[in-house]
Amino acid sequence: MTTLSQTEKKIIEGAIRDIPDFPKPGIVFKDITTLLNDSRAFGVTMNHLYERYKNLNLDFIAGIDARGFIFGAALAQMLGIGFVPIRKKGKLPYTTISQKYSLEYGFDEIEIHIDAFRGKKGAQVLLMDDLIATGGTANAAAELIKQADAECMEACFVIGLTFLDGIKKLSEKTSVYTLIEVD
Ligand code: AMP
Repeated sequence: MTTLSQTEKKIIEGAIRDIPDFPKPGIVFKDITTLLNDSRAFGVTMNHLYERYKNLNLDFIAGIDARGFIFGAALAQMLGIGFVPIRKKGKLPYTTISQKYSLEYGFDEIEIHIDAFRGKKGAQVLLMDDLIATGGTANAAAELIKQADAECMEACFVIGLTFLDGIKKLSEKTSVYTLIEVD
């Protein structure tokens, strides 16, 4: 499967902005708005994703609220397949399946529409988000895809934080691909 060249990686890395101490002290927030407003870097990202997934016979892309929607929906259109949003609790209007997951303090919950994959049992799905940190969100999302009778073929993230064990944990459930790694 296609991997990124060093030049392409540098273009993507160079377009992501670090915001120290956001949303709280000690966190370095990886800001992808500066990637999105740089058409060259966004183009390199999307073309690479298209090349990687064009021959995989995917049926759907499921994107995680909210930045996973941007990459996921754009890629779904490029591939000519449907897009499915996995949203924070209370945002989807129809009947949902939901999954709770732990945060540093407390828990959060995400949901998917019960008919998200249009009744196609065993639909081949790519899960997409901008970043994997602890992997809690992506693990819950992969679980929702399974509960909706589909199959998560791979989870793809623009950025992987390798100093946390999220990628390792999620790899027990599905294949994981990150465009750039931050250690
Ligand atoms: P996690 O469940 O810990 O893997 O967190 C992943 C989710 O939180 C993703 O939807 C990310 O967009 C967001 N996130 C976590 N850490 C960061 C960070 N350092 N910079 C930007 N987004 C982050």
